[in-house]
Amino acid sequence: MSNPYPHMLEPLDLGFTTLKNRVLMGSMHTGLEDRRKDFPKLAEYFAERARGGVGMMVTGGFSPNIEGWLAPFGSKMSMPWEVGRHHQVTDAVHNEGGKICLQLLHAGRYGYSPLCVSASPIKSPISMFKPRELSGRGIRRTIRDYANSAKLAKKAGYDGVEIMGSEGYFLNQFLVTHVNKRTDEWGGSFENRMRLPVEVVRAVREAAGDDFIIIYRLSMADLIKDGSTWEEVVTLGKAIEAAGATIINTGIGWHEARVPTIVTSVPRGAFTWVTQRMKEHVDLPLITTNRINDPKVAEDILARGDADMVSMARPFLADPDFVKKAEEDRAEEINTCIGCNQACLDHIFVGKRSTCLVNPRACYETELVAKPATHKKRVAVVGAGPAGLSASTTLAQRGHEVTLFDADDKIGGQFNIAKQIPGKEEFYETLRYFDVLLKKEGVEVKLNTKVAANDLLKAGFDEVILATGIVPRVPKIPGVDHKKVLSYIDVVVHKKPVGEKVAIIGAGGIGFDVAELLVHEGTSPSLDIEKFNEEWGVDTDYENRGALDKPKPEAPARQVVMLQRKESKMGKGLGKTSGWVHRASLKMKQVQMITGASYDLIDDKGLHVTLNEEKKELIECDTIVLCAGQLSRRDLQEELEQAGMPTHLIGGSKLAGELDAKRAIREGFEVAVAI
Ligand code: FAD
Ligand code: NAP
Ligand code: SF4
Repeated sequence: MSNPYPHMLEPLDLGFTTLKNRVLMGSMHTGLEDRRKDFPKLAEYFAERARGGVGMMVTGGFSPNIEGWLAPFGSKMSMPWEVGRHHQVTDAVHNEGGKICLQLLHAGRYGYSPLCVSASPIKSPISMFKPRELSGRGIRRTIRDYANSAKLAKKAGYDGVEIMGSEGYFLNQFLVTHVNKRTDEWGGSFENRMRLPVEVVRAVREAAGDDFIIIYRLSMADLIKDGSTWEEVVTLGKAIEAAGATIINTGIGWHEARVPTIVTSVPRGAFTWVTQRMKEHVDLPLITTNRINDPKVAEDILARGDADMVSMARPFLADPDFVKKAEEDRAEEINTCIGCNQACLDHIFVGKRSTCLVNPRACYETELVAKPATHKKRVAVVGAGPAGLSASTTLAQRGHEVTLFDADDKIGGQFNIAKQIPGKEEFYETLRYFDVLLKKEGVEVKLNTKVAANDLLKAGFDEVILATGIVPRVPKIPGVDHKKVLSYIDVVVHKKPVGEKVAIIGAGGIGFDVAELLVHEGTSPSLDIEKFNEEWGVDTDYENRGALDKPKPEAPARQVVMLQRKESKMGKGLGKTSGWVHRASLKMKQVQMITGASYDLIDDKGLHVTLNEEKKELIECDTIVLCAGQLSRRDLQEELEQAGMPTHLIGGSKLAGELDAKRAIREGFEVAVAI
């Protein structure tokens, strides 16, 4: 078989050991690390990914001591009795021919714990706890703690450790002057500020010996105002190399940075330029990262010589077999990570186990299992949106005979609308994946077929799954049938003309997306790295600290006002890790956001509203777009049930409120494994 990705699949010789390819599964906290009882699940999670062929993996972060906790009683590796459970993970991975490193992560002032410490007592914007300033003795002890953790990791069977030195965590905090105000040997000059990370690497190498991988995750672009200069980044890189690291991994942006670095609207491979800049300064293998989710993108990055390895993290939640499928020239079968963060990072931030919107089995490998069906059934699935696609492909994988109907001329349901929003182009990939899978699993797909209950009854199916989705809500506002009123479907799908001045009624996920669409013109910044860097102020010439420049957004294509009735913050219901990006993006485009509105009338002049129950106002506009939520479409249910047909509702047709694709896909899977 020809090798479609020669650079990505090339082994990497590290001297004392060899990685089978150039792909690292980057560190992700899954929520399974924190408790001993979850380790069998964690072991299977990693084993599945090792079986899928990835070159090496890094665990979620384990702190070297209690002060370094991400949260109280979180994952830690500092005591001999914490070692035993890890053998389940390392044995499982090694049995599958994989390699795995433990990440050593000291949270510093990002710790959500009253015990947190940092270089200086300066609170971070993302934790309510003010850190204690670590004393000189405390710093020496912490260095020993890192060395101790590395020793324990080796004992636990890990192939190495990754020392987390980026993303604004503890080691990174010592490097920059806005957190490090010390005047002792650990502060002041850059030589002093970088002393801690360098000593940590040296101590870890000494403790763990030569035959142990040490990855150092180095912040190559802090993307904060007082971040490191390029000269400082290079100086640190050289010192880390001299201190005994094996590989340097790229870190991009502090968690408090106001430049998006991993969400779906960030262009693929947007930050490899900075790893490439580092190449001439160090001899160690360099890993590049961020928004690499496709083997072709990875191959191009490596072929260009931007880096020696690529790190992908979330893509392995979406598809554990990513590398295997690429190796076997089946890349079109990869379930692509769409960068939504909805089921991975957004879960972790609210203390829930991580999983994946497009792959509900992620982190549930031992619990969600699609076993072969004991009795083959003929099942009709009505609706080829995310819910119906997930249900029909899982049913077929289990051996059922499945017919999937959709009234539309293509599969995808509302994802066909979502994929047209600037910054949501990745949603195309989910449809490509399901399209390939439907064919592979032999699902009979009947498009342009709006089915009635009677059609299904006559066809003699054993069971019916209704995944018929939603209908948009039309709010009862006087004048809502005025010609200047359009639904979001009119705007996005039917491309009806929209005027210069627009009012959007409803500021949920769809309201925000429609606003994005209406203010953008030309190529989406998510498809154009240069445009993205201009819009968000990323300084690829590195003339400024932190690689940060002044954002230069293009002028908005229209004047947009968004309204909601609630008085709460706009976009409160959006994802924890992506909502701020949507809000910031629309702010740059001067979108006006009005809360506490009640809608009085729509007429030739525009939208008449009362604000906060007292102030009457006219919002002059040419077009009003309704994004006022959705209602379930269940027109077939009653007749089917009355006729005694076993009928299941999933996705939007089950419940339109708080619907998202994560729930739709998971419900599709769940119903399919239960039939
Ligand atoms: P749908 O996707 O609505 O699919 C229902 C299907 O049923 C349709 O294809 C329809 O043609 C078909 N159908 C209905 N009746 C019949 C019939 N009688 N016969 C045959 N076919 C029939 N969700 C997220 O999680 N994250 C996002 O970022 C996100 N962004 C979005 C952006 C936009 C602009 C929009 C519109 C939606 C977005 N969503 C997002 C929502 C997400 O797309 C929906 O939650 C999801 O599509 C619901 O899936 P579903 O399968 O239940 O229904
Ligand atoms: P939504 O998030 O529930 O928002 C509906 C909006 O309509 C709200 O702003 C609501 O605000 C308003 N509204 C509700 N009833 C109204 C009425 N009778 N009159 C006027 N306004 C009314 O729903 P959506 O935007 O339609 O999105 C549908 C689903 O897709 C959501 O559940 C969402 O999770 C998902 N989605 C997600 C994303 C994402 O980025 N994660 C993006 C798009 C869609 P008030 O009640 O305050 O007026
Ligand atoms: Fe990727 Fe979204 Fe899955 Fe997270 S939830 S791994 S971002 S597709």
